[in-house]
This record gives sequence, C-alpha cells and structure tokens, in this order.
Amino acid sequence: MPETTPDRLPSGADLAPGVLSDAGPGLRVLLAPNPGPMSLRGTQSYVIGPDGSCVIVDPGPEDETHLAALAALRPVLILITHRHADHTAGIDRLRELTGAPVRAASRTFCRAAGPLLDGETLRVGDQEIRVIATPGHTSDSLCFHVRAARAPGEDGGPDGGGSLLSGDTILGTGTTMLDHPDGTVADYLASLEKLAALAEAAKAPVTLLPAHGGLGGDLGVVVREYREHRLARLAEVRRAVTAMGDDGDAVTAAVYPDVPDGVRRAARLSIEAQLRYLRESRDG
Ligand SMILES: [Zn+2]
Repeated sequence: MPETTPDRLPSGADLAPGVLSDAGPGLRVLLAPNPGPMSLRGTQSYVIGPDGSCVIVDPGPEDETHLAALAALRPVLILITHRHADHTAGIDRLRELTGAPVRAASRTFCRAAGPLLDGETLRVGDQEIRVIATPGHTSDSLCFHVRAARAPGEDGGPDGGGSLLSGDTILGTGTTMLDHPDGTVADYLASLEKLAALAEAAKAPVTLLPAHGGLGGDLGVVVREYREHRLARLAEVRRAVTAMGDDGDAVTAAVYPDVPDGVRRAARLSIEAQLRYLRESRDG
C-alpha cells in the first residue's frame, strides 16, 4: 500500500459534522448533519485534491454550515453520485458560493457543464477520476474510481487499487435499497458484476468510500457479500410468492418482519423491484 494511506480510515461513527477527515491519498471526507434511518450518520461529502483545485463529490443536503465548509476548500468542480436529495439538495447553494460547475449523469443536476459519461476520465492534479455508471439503486447512479494518475508515456508504474467513491451503490453499513421503479434488480446485479470485474482487474485492493457508513472496506470482498445477500433475498421473495402470491404488502411483511418504521417504505420499494425482476425472469 502507498505510504500515504492512513493506518485506518474513519468508521462512520468516528466522523463528526464539520470535521474534515483524511480518507486516503489526496482524499478527505466531511459528514453532513443529516442523520436518519436511510442516511445513517449523514451524507459523506468527499473532497478530491488540494484546496483551491479540488473536486467535491456530493454537496449533500442544503445545510449552510456544511456547504460553507465545502466552499472554503475552493472547489473547481462538483460531481454528483445520484439524484437523491440527501446528495443533491445543496447543489445550487454550493455553486452560488463557489462558481464551480456541477456534473452528474442526469442533465437535471448539471450546472454550466455537460453530463458525465460512463468510462470518462477526469484529472485533478496527480489523481485521476474514472466515471463508472452503476445503475440499480437509481438509474442515474455513478461510482468514481480515484487513483494516482500516470504520467504520459509512463508504462505501468506503481499503481495501488485506488479508492471507489461508491455513492449509495455500496454502503459502509447494511445493504442498498433499490428505488423502484427507477432502480431495478437487473441493473443492480449487472452493476455489481461490473464492480467485481474492476476489483479483480486492479493490482491491489480497491478501498471503498461510501456516501453513508464506514470507510475503508475492500471492494472485492464487499461486492461478493452484496451479491450473495441480493441473491439470498431474491430466493426469500420467490419462496414468499410461492406460499402467498405476489401481493407486495404481504411479501414485505414476510421478508422484512421487523423492519423499523423509518425504512418501511424503502423495504416496500425493494420488494417491488424484486417482484418485478422475478416476474420478468419468469416471463422470459
Ligand atoms: Zn440514494
């Protein structure tokens, strides 16, 4: 591992709103003060590169203190992982404070710049950011693979696995909900395959930096766990449908019997996404 990697990245619980923490080589993280059942401790905004030429990933909610702290780093570009308000509500205020353009997969969230494309590579100082389309949580979900850029003509060279800013596609705690009907199981499983291939192709472990929950997971390990979890859930849903038919409320109650109120709607949407997937795979 590169010597600049901190011994240990912060677990979600170590982060505090307003405290900028180290998140790996050339990376920092700032927790927004929006804790909740879906956002866990809050949204984690990431900073790639040094003050004055950095890129912010996800402004987070429209919270003046949080946005002012991000603006003080003088970002030159703002990137968005996906459309949910806990990632995007602060876009216009942060743009107002910094003048930085905003780029996302969806034009709706772009300001003074075009949408991000799958496979596109951006350069920030000596780091490169590769854009990876990973639909499933939502149709516009992106991950950003950040690693040391190679000088032109430099062949191979030292290359760590880098870090994956995984948005809500992979979280630091628990698993991701699928926002039916925009988020689908078929898309999500394909995105996990894509991330598994990325982890396999990397010369070293790729470090996970999720938008919610603990930092520092190993992408290859976590993506395998996520895939197993998703397939196990699908098998459970299939069994429930066989036993009681495909009424969404009944299946949700059977598969998530103790779901707390705060995540009941998310559980219901994830069940709808799974019912749709099972229906479509049955119908051909
Ligand atoms: Zn989300």
